[in-house]
Amino acid sequence: MSRRVGVDLGGTTAKLGLVNEQNEIEKRLVIPTDRTLPFEEIIARLADGIKSLGPVESVGFGVPSCLKPGSGIIIYANNFGWKNKDLRGELQKHLKDTAVYIANDADCAAVGEYFHGAGRGYESMLMLTLGTGVGGSFMFGGRLFLGGNGSGIEPGHIIVREGGEECTCGLRGCLEAYCSATALIREITSSASPLLARLIRENGGKANARILFDAVEAGDEDAQNILDRYLRTLAAGIGSLVTVMRPHIIVIGGGISQAGDRLFKPLSALMPSAVFSYDVIGCADIVPAALGNDAGIIGAACLKDALGA
Ligand SMILES: [Zn+2]
Repeated sequence: MSRRVGVDLGGTTAKLGLVNEQNEIEKRLVIPTDRTLPFEEIIARLADGIKSLGPVESVGFGVPSCLKPGSGIIIYANNFGWKNKDLRGELQKHLKDTAVYIANDADCAAVGEYFHGAGRGYESMLMLTLGTGVGGSFMFGGRLFLGGNGSGIEPGHIIVREGGEECTCGLRGCLEAYCSATALIREITSSASPLLARLIRENGGKANARILFDAVEAGDEDAQNILDRYLRTLAAGIGSLVTVMRPHIIVIGGGISQAGDRLFKPLSALMPSAVFSYDVIGCADIVPAALGNDAGIIGAACLKDALGA
């Protein structure tokens, strides 16, 4: 692969990177994406930025939105208020000789981790992102697995408790309803633990995963119970996914993954009780994502390969 540009399109800025043959970011550019500007104007500015990075073979875009599979058409991008916008068509007006590839931003992050991060060198990779929601993607044989209808996998919405908590997607008992950062914070803030309450106060009234891990280290029993419940549900979800997909590596991204060993050690220890025939077949390693915010840029730049285009 020669030089490509990857674009991580966010609600306030677009992060552009010129990516070389080793999948390293050589040059960076940040362009404000003022959502009050018309769609055409934002795209024109992005196209100018891409051109300023020099001649490239292709441009990949990671977009926080629903995409019409394979078409480059954004069905809905909440951050921008875009509905049914032909992103690829508009870009191609400015970048006539450059191939343009577009995917969901979460998928781009997985592609980046697969080609240059924690999933590098493995034939298949399951990635889960534990953030506001629980996102996920599956890479297999160098390709992003998009499934029969082209919309990818949604591991955050497998049902881990029939009839359980209501999920943002409308179903009940989804993995996301228990294992997103949002769900964990809900548990932490509703706890009766005086220590958790104090740590939240000291953090300006904001709960997060780090507070929970700190309270666990201080020996707080309520915090330990919350963490145990969280880990058991997460292990059940990952275990079921592993039993079905048999990935070669499992990569966890998102804010919670920054807890390091405090998350990964107990989670890995639960896998024998969550994976079919663990004693015979085993389970792939569960590791943290390695690229941070660069995953989206690098993955976008690798879309040509990942989409098999
Ligand atoms: Zn759901």
